[in-house]
Amino acid sequence: MQNLVYFLYDKAYINLTNACTNACRFCVRDIKEDVVGSKLWLDDKEVRALDVIEQIENNKEKILKSGEIVFCGYGEPLTKFEDVIEISKYIKKSMPKVKIRINTNGHGNFIAKKNIVPILAPLIDSISISLNAQNEEIYNAISKPKFEGAYNEMLKFAKLCTEEKIDTTLSIVTNYKPELYKIDVFECENIAKNIGAKFKNREWIENGY
Ligand code: SF4
Repeated sequence: MQNLVYFLYDKAYINLTNACTNACRFCVRDIKEDVVGSKLWLDDKEVRALDVIEQIENNKEKILKSGEIVFCGYGEPLTKFEDVIEISKYIKKSMPKVKIRINTNGHGNFIAKKNIVPILAPLIDSISISLNAQNEEIYNAISKPKFEGAYNEMLKFAKLCTEEKIDTTLSIVTNYKPELYKIDVFECENIAKNIGAKFKNREWIENGY
């Protein structure tokens, strides 16, 4: 069975895809095959929303206990934004007390070729966007995006999220090869502040979590 829903320290997560528009040097999927025993590499590239919903159903009690479910796996959830929307609608209807968060690289509008933020806003409770660096040059070096202009795309997406009043956090990972990647925490925090987002600095740990 593929792990489309998994748990990490009793918190619930959805592993929707292995596709991503970045190839971050610190990505946990390049370090580990699994997250606490759940293998997150998917055999079937065409996971359907219904497959995820089935696993949500099978884990309903644990998800209710978790209180929140997060789109976050070995890939960028918004590469499958239509499925994210369908699954979120289902969760909102069947478990209205469970909060929904998306962890994303912020390339959702580029992928969808339209502004999906107003569609997501009524469905999700919060969003965490990987800022990763204070400028495009360092971002490109550390996140290795697969298209040009990805840094600005991510910033625009984050701004739209705050404008839509989604609880938005910009995150960075520090201490990953600091001799190579000079992440300016203060500058990153300012970027978050200026667009009205919260800020999170996560220290890189070998295990990834
Ligand atoms: S955006 Fe996330 S899933 Fe994609 S490569 Fe970076 S860390 Fe990995």
